[in-house]
Amino acid sequence: MDSYDVVIIGAGVVGCLTARFLSRYQLRILVIEKESDVGAGTSSANSALIHAGYDPLPGTLKAALNVRGNEMWDQLADELDFDFERCGDYVAAIGEDEFQQLQILKRQGEQNGVPGLKILSVDEIRKRIPNINPEVSGALFAPTAGICDTFAVTIAAAENAQMNGVMFRFDTCFESFLVEKHRIVGIRTDRGDIRCQWVINAAGLYADEVMHQAGSHPEFMIHPRRGEYCVFDPACFQIDTVLFPVPSEKGKGVLFFKTTHGNTIVGPTSEFVDCKEDKAVSVTGLRYLEEQMQRLIPGADLRWTIASFSGLRASGNAICTNSDVDYSGDFLIESDKTVKGLIHCAGIESPGLSASPAIAERICLLLEQSGFEMIEKPYWNPRRKRRPCFRHLTNEERNELIAQDPRYGRIVCRCEMVTEGEIAAEIHAPIPARTYDAIKRRTWCGTGRCQGGFDMIRVVEILTRELNLSSEKISKNGPGSEFIFSETKNQRSGQC
Ligand SMILES: Cc1cc2nc3c(=O)[nH]c(=O)nc-3n(C[C@H](O)[C@H](O)[C@H](O)COP(=O)(O)OP(=O)(O)OC[C@H]3O[C@@H](n4cnc5c(N)ncnc54)[C@H](O)[C@@H]3O)c2cc1C
Repeated sequence: MDSYDVVIIGAGVVGCLTARFLSRYQLRILVIEKESDVGAGTSSANSALIHAGYDPLPGTLKAALNVRGNEMWDQLADELDFDFERCGDYVAAIGEDEFQQLQILKRQGEQNGVPGLKILSVDEIRKRIPNINPEVSGALFAPTAGICDTFAVTIAAAENAQMNGVMFRFDTCFESFLVEKHRIVGIRTDRGDIRCQWVINAAGLYADEVMHQAGSHPEFMIHPRRGEYCVFDPACFQIDTVLFPVPSEKGKGVLFFKTTHGNTIVGPTSEFVDCKEDKAVSVTGLRYLEEQMQRLIPGADLRWTIASFSGLRASGNAICTNSDVDYSGDFLIESDKTVKGLIHCAGIESPGLSASPAIAERICLLLEQSGFEMIEKPYWNPRRKRRPCFRHLTNEERNELIAQDPRYGRIVCRCEMVTEGEIAAEIHAPIPARTYDAIKRRTWCGTGRCQGGFDMIRVVEILTRELNLSSEKISKNGPGSEFIFSETKNQRSGQC
């Protein structure tokens, strides 16, 4: 049976950053993931904002880890070489009542330790966002908020962890714990048992079920809360910032935001759903987006949409134990109370991405506090470099790359100008891309106006060739989503 010091369940942003933080110690670490790639869950379908930290209630773990996490992003982006921009964000108030709420939000932010918060006058906000609703009464500006490439963060963290010795096992689902004398000694997966001393539960939407397998917190449940989005064609509409409405009991509301890739996205909705895999985009959701977006930018039109998608928030019912207010919905990050050798990380809904480096830091601290021996490696490399991105290169750099490898001269995705060379490089990267969606998350191939109409079959051909598989084995996002069932040319007559 395989044996590790630490097994992490879940290769989302929390699992991968935790693996990367822990990789500085002399530990044998394994990350298991039920999907075929890293970041295939909630970490790849969110607003990609690094929140400043004025939204969570003071005293909550969400507030503390959001603000600490926010501070860590410049260094993280520099070391892991992914796109991150501290562009700031605005909360726009419409009418007098909402203006009063801006003051409350500002005070809350200051209590949380958010620096630089400022209330802007009507003139100031109109100057910065000219097409904003003329009924705007003012705005809160948070200069420390930012945007990131949410796909790249998880991939970069996983690659850096892998470079520092962490192992990854995909298509492997946690089933139960192996416990001896109230201590974890391993886990059972659908691909066999794995021995280990410690398990980190970073299973996102399923973290409650993993927790219940250890017999802990039977009262703690995760209810998936769906957020639907529309991506606008940049030729129709672009916003150069992040614009929120005043938050309500439904959460932070429907916002407009730019991505590091130059698109504008509107969303998300907020709707509890029964199924943890229900990532549908609904008519009700689209109607809600259409109605809500008019409050901020009148005239915004859903016909500008080139793609729609949804993500599921892992909304938990953990009660905040540090606050005077009885707040249900905090992060639950703690060592298990019934068995030794287990740390849970559950209810990680927004601002989970912003807080993720701080969550990883906290998990390391919990391990240290438990007396687990953690000796730093004499040499740990915190740096990982991204691979060349053809569309961002100068013509001289492009020619140089094509001279080294002619595959960089063949454009596969016309909208986003992604080359065969880039796709092949991702298939052979430290954390290899093995599905169409994995290629998409790494290269942005298929994310433009045609949404894969031109490139999809070419990418399937490249995956088939580079992975040396039959084309029937190539899928969109893992087993069950294959593109090709069988060849049609060689079918016997009479069959269709
Ligand atoms: C609509 C929406 C908008 C959001 N916007 C923001 C934002 O702008 N800023 C922000 O800070 N946060 C935002 N968030 C929250 C943020 O996306 C999450 O907090 C974060 O991605 C959680 O990461 P994770 O690693 O905990 O979960 P995940 O990314 O879901 O990773 C968990 C992984 O565990 C795997 N797994 C589950 N069960 C098993 C098992 N049994 N065996 C093996 N593997 C398993 C899953 O497949 C998954 O890959 C948003 C979330 C949503 C849904």
